[in-house]
Amino acid sequence: MSTATLTIDLNAAVANWRTLDAMTGCETAAVVKADAYGLGAEKVGRAFARAGARTFFVAVAEEGAALRQALGPGPAILVFSGHMAGDAEMIGDLDLIPLVNSLDQMIRHVEALPGHPFGIQLDTGMNRLGLEPDEWRAVREVALAQNPVLVMSHLACADTPDHPMNAQQLRNFREMTAGLDVARSLANTGGVLMGSDYHFDLTRPGIGTYGGHPYDSARPVVTLDIPVIQCRDVAAGEAVGYGASHVVNRPSRIATISAGYADGILRAMGPRTSLWSEGRAVPIAGRISMDLIGVDVTGLGHDPKSLQLLGPDQGVDTLAHAAGTIGYEILTSLGGRYTRRYLTP
Ligand SMILES: *Cc1c(COP(=O)(O)O)cnc(C)c1O
Repeated sequence: MSTATLTIDLNAAVANWRTLDAMTGCETAAVVKADAYGLGAEKVGRAFARAGARTFFVAVAEEGAALRQALGPGPAILVFSGHMAGDAEMIGDLDLIPLVNSLDQMIRHVEALPGHPFGIQLDTGMNRLGLEPDEWRAVREVALAQNPVLVMSHLACADTPDHPMNAQQLRNFREMTAGLDVARSLANTGGVLMGSDYHFDLTRPGIGTYGGHPYDSARPVVTLDIPVIQCRDVAAGEAVGYGASHVVNRPSRIATISAGYADGILRAMGPRTSLWSEGRAVPIAGRISMDLIGVDVTGLGHDPKSLQLLGPDQGVDTLAHAAGTIGYEILTSLGGRYTRRYLTP
């Protein structure tokens, strides 16, 4: 087999979800948008449901429809993009809950599906989705008369707890929702970690459940093992890979492994990234190709059968740092070619 194996530890994801849940006194939802951050919404969603999650968040109605097929009736599935034109049938038939984010969406929703549950997104400062304070003031009474099931907003800087934006958004959210008799939600992973002021009635952790920053003590969820296709001796002064940019300065043993930037191993991470073999780091040699990567395994003293890019020795945030990005992008870039293996209880 020459494709790499991506192992997704559902036990670890569930353990992370439970630990984040135990940090609050309120309900904890599961965020499974973008195919559960690239890990497989169906399997991940079912694992969270078995662990007791009753509320799920997705980005778009199509994801909600697929998740409903996987989970069956019962769990609440809420859609961040709200009620978009053409979605009424899907929302109605599959019992999805749109989080309407503008006055237009609210009108569309109550006209198309009167009496069907919905939530409301408020903008407390991120300026991405949701009603602005002025808009909300104007429609608040009319909107509340339609019985929304949730009022929520999203934090722009929750991974930076000291950022003044957090307290500002918290103040705005409190002001905008004062006196409401509706469930409220503000916290993503970072919000959960910032403490009970941010928890309200429902939290929405995503990245933390998948083992990413800012939940730095999370259990790692993904392991990526990449087979070695061949090993070769390279003499001092010879180059490895495209552009002949990497010239070895001593006789070296180079392993060529079977994955590349087409699998989401971002080319930019190459110069700062190692692979791992039984606890020992071996550096990438030369540029990352589409389907192949050269790795300098001289230090191992033997030819490995496979090398590990993600695992206990090197997590998604280390790779993200090396590529100048965030763990979210590393996870959601994980390639479609990998053989996916799920660890379950
Ligand atoms: C993605 C997202 C979340 C989850 O955020 P994490 O940082 O992954 O915990 C929560 N709420 C909204 C609105 C989101 O878009």
